[in-house]
Amino acid sequence: MSDMFDVIVIGAGPAGYHAAIRCAQLGMKTACIDKSLDDDGNAVLGGTCLNWGCIPSKALLDASHKFVEASEHFAEIGIKTGKVSVDVPAMMARKDQVVKGLTGGVSSLFQGNGVTALAGSGKLLAGRQVEFTPHTGETQVLKAEHVILAPGSVPVEIPPAPLTDDLIVDSTGALEFQEVPKKLGVIGAGVIGLELGSVWNRLGSEVVLLEALEEFLPMADERIARDSLKIMRGQGLDIRLGTRVTGAEVMGKKVKVTFQDKDGEQVIEVDKLIVAVGRRPYTEGLLSRDCGVNLDERGFLYVNDLCATDVPNVYAVGDVVRGPMLAHKGMEEGIMVAERIAGQKPLVNYDAVPSVIYTHPEVAWVGQTEQQLKASGEAYNVGAFPFAASGRALAANDTQGTVKILADAETDRILGVHILGPQASELIAQAVIAMEFDASADDLGLTMFAHPTLSEALHEAALGVAGHAIHMVNRKKRQ
Ligand code: FAD
Ligand code: AMP
Repeated sequence: MSDMFDVIVIGAGPAGYHAAIRCAQLGMKTACIDKSLDDDGNAVLGGTCLNWGCIPSKALLDASHKFVEASEHFAEIGIKTGKVSVDVPAMMARKDQVVKGLTGGVSSLFQGNGVTALAGSGKLLAGRQVEFTPHTGETQVLKAEHVILAPGSVPVEIPPAPLTDDLIVDSTGALEFQEVPKKLGVIGAGVIGLELGSVWNRLGSEVVLLEALEEFLPMADERIARDSLKIMRGQGLDIRLGTRVTGAEVMGKKVKVTFQDKDGEQVIEVDKLIVAVGRRPYTEGLLSRDCGVNLDERGFLYVNDLCATDVPNVYAVGDVVRGPMLAHKGMEEGIMVAERIAGQKPLVNYDAVPSVIYTHPEVAWVGQTEQQLKASGEAYNVGAFPFAASGRALAANDTQGTVKILADAETDRILGVHILGPQASELIAQAVIAMEFDASADDLGLTMFAHPTLSEALHEAALGVAGHAIHMVNRKKRQ
């Protein structure tokens, strides 16, 4: 192997592999170093997202949702079944197959585009040199015109709940259970805690989520968060707010969890405990002392809006830099950096990054929340439409939730869209496109939507901003 590349990418998660493929497409000689190994010790591409994050969690969310549909809701639509049961090892095996197919797909994409995949650890040295230590073999020093750092993030661990082999686990361990725990504790009712809690609740666990904050989903629109909390509690998730975990102790095959709430110190016993208290940037072993790349005060690699570090021609993208820890945000940053290296001038629009929680109904949003607009004193109008009034949602027996659109009171420009409902993850893309094109609520209202679709709820909410949604009685009498 030659030791000189146009671009070396460290990390083959979504941020890194998008950057590497785009660099190769643009004609650059590109290598991508990644150190991840699967359970059998094989090198795997795709990072957290494909191996231990987005994809396996969605495989289990979709499977467990289908189980609930079959066991609880099929009868409502006239389908009789016998007793429906779950085969957890089979569900896990299928999830693993999905992951394998996709990580293998990244490998094929690398081959097809001419990206050199290097299995092992990468470390940035001074002068855009990269020390590569393969899983087997000698360490070597590679040189590059440009280096892109994409090492991602790892779960936060907290002293009150140290991880064990199989009883106190992080999100990765929670995707590997081979049987349904009778009682499951989850520390943290954020996105990951809610998704994993939902999987096991649907499969039959009694799930208790212990959340230190008093407020539920503070980053979501208040009304959507309030409605979500009610629905999720209705599904059996025991979400306890204002509850700070102070200790967790393994007692035989159980875990004793101690926490503080408004009534003082409490104790519960669970069969498994998931620690889902957030993720932190991962930079261990990544930087030599003299490489010149700096960290910010929270341990993220310091970059400007264009993902450039303090060292010329060295960039950083994905979870390891500021901004939401989301796969698609990292992908867009990876592509932006590749194209900038090639002399193009793309930007990432950080004001239009969609967020999704894949519960059922799903929660998705983009742009500003109503509480943010109130706090900044901006005048706005609201249009909202419930899925209970959508013909398609009724036909599909899936009517919980609302679409809410916030638009500037003067210009009607869309400032935020918040959806709780079926397929919110898909619907939010329409709002992102509208916001990318600086659309007004009226622009969406004037657009023709196919009938009957869930998307019509977005259309009606847009009409509702001006007070003339068709399928609900309008209280505002605007024209
Ligand atoms: P990563 O995916 O973490 O990849 C970094 C890679 O770099 C890893 O393979 C790592 O081994 C490698 N690496 C690190 N340091 C080195 C080094 N020095 N040398 C060589 N290799 C190195 N996001 C969403 O947008 N949607 C979701 O639905 C979603 N669901 C999630 C569910 C769970 C359970 C979890 C844990 C996360 C989820 N996320 C989701 C977050 C998403 O996984 C991350 O935002 C995304 O993976 C970040 O991409 P990345 O490329 O920055 O880093
Ligand atoms: P997220 O960052 O979205 O993954 O959410 C993680 C959640 O875990 C946050 O809402 C934190 O408030 C919560 N959290 C962190 N530490 C604790 C703790 N010791 N007990 C309960 N909740 C916690």
